[in-house]
Amino acid sequence: MNRYRQSEELLNRSRRVLAGGVSSTLRAAMKPTPLYAVAGRGARIQDADGHTYIDYLLAYGPLILGHGHEPTVERLLSSMRNGLAYGLQHQGEIELAELLTKVLPCADQVAFSGSGTEAVMLALRLARAYTNRRRIIRFHGHYHGWSDTIFTSFPSTDMKASRKRNVMSQVIRYDNDTHPTEARVIPGTGGQSEAALQDIILLPWNDAEALKDAVALYGSTVAAIISEPVMCNSGCIMPKPGYLELMRELTAANGIVMILDEVITGFRFGLGGAHGVFRIMPDLVTIGKAMGGGIAISGVAGRADIMELIADGTVSHLGTLNGNCVATTAAVATINELSRDGGAVFARMEKSAADLSEGLRQAMKDHDIQGIVNQAGPVFHLMFTTERQVDSFEAFQKRDADLYITFAQEMLEEGVLLRPNGLWYVSAAHGEAEIRETLAAANRVFARWGEDKS
Ligand code: PMP
Repeated sequence: MNRYRQSEELLNRSRRVLAGGVSSTLRAAMKPTPLYAVAGRGARIQDADGHTYIDYLLAYGPLILGHGHEPTVERLLSSMRNGLAYGLQHQGEIELAELLTKVLPCADQVAFSGSGTEAVMLALRLARAYTNRRRIIRFHGHYHGWSDTIFTSFPSTDMKASRKRNVMSQVIRYDNDTHPTEARVIPGTGGQSEAALQDIILLPWNDAEALKDAVALYGSTVAAIISEPVMCNSGCIMPKPGYLELMRELTAANGIVMILDEVITGFRFGLGGAHGVFRIMPDLVTIGKAMGGGIAISGVAGRADIMELIADGTVSHLGTLNGNCVATTAAVATINELSRDGGAVFARMEKSAADLSEGLRQAMKDHDIQGIVNQAGPVFHLMFTTERQVDSFEAFQKRDADLYITFAQEMLEEGVLLRPNGLWYVSAAHGEAEIRETLAAANRVFARWGEDKS
């Protein structure tokens, strides 16, 4: 009996009219089939075949309060009765901007957009306009959205595709000032403008010497350094002690704009994002995902003298639905909920992630499975690997990504929904019962693997 018959039938119907059958390329990676959802409640989600799963995909991050958080839904419904969008200014956008400038340490001002991709595009544009320079330093394994100006070096879940694109060979050789010829940054997709990438300098992350060398060589032409504060997209790797501080020092000394991409970490590591937790003051941050709790909204926040370029007309910032009232209502409600009891929910989510990480490590040990769990605050990454530790993108690339996809598939049968690439999100709605059930499920899967080996 096929457990996923409805999902498969819906996918077949979809493929006739929806390019690729899914609405974002990554979603096609789920095995045995991309699932169709019908409803979500708290930490659980239901599929079209009537199965219920504990959800660690969480819509790829936004559902920080879980599914259908009742007070947020109520506020949305009452706001929506007054209209879905205006194209005029409204008080909700001021309220949200005031809230953000209060909770985000680096935010003098903010600007809204719809997706993380757009927020990064705006941040890069601001940095280039502010410095009147063109180059951007970014890092292997970080993801900053899919726009032509930045999309490269994102490890595909499909290891074969990522090997074909030869991502590891792209580490910059900075032996002269004409890097684009011998160290070309390779487009992340067909149809992408290579010219749009020619000002990108791609470096290994967490490598202080590489950063110092690149800034020494190119500093006077670099507009921005953009980095995830924690490498959440490739192994949940924490910055080495002093690394972000070095980035701050080098950027300040060389007139470079420091952008932290907090699309994942914002409103997840704490109300003040990872930069609040690490006490690093970037010039700009990009935020998205959790801020809207599941409704599309993103933004750039940062220094007044940089954001000022929007006010004085130097930088165009556009978007039909930017700052729309549904999105701002969702964000204000989400942030207010996260702020309750002095933000106690962040410690709870971190504890859930720690308990899950520790439980998974123990389960792998008990069943003689080689793997690593890297936990960073409320997110963690489970990798099957023989490496002793995964503290670089290079080490991350050595994981057995195909085995993880099999694991995710078997966990699905056990009632647990995982992202196929190894990153787990937890929400405020995940409690002890969910964690217990999840660990029991993982133990059953690993026990079967152990039996197969013996
Ligand atoms: N930056 C980071 C760090 C991200 O993880 C993502 C999405 N995973 C983005 C930017 C792009 O956001 P969006 O998918 O909303 O365009």
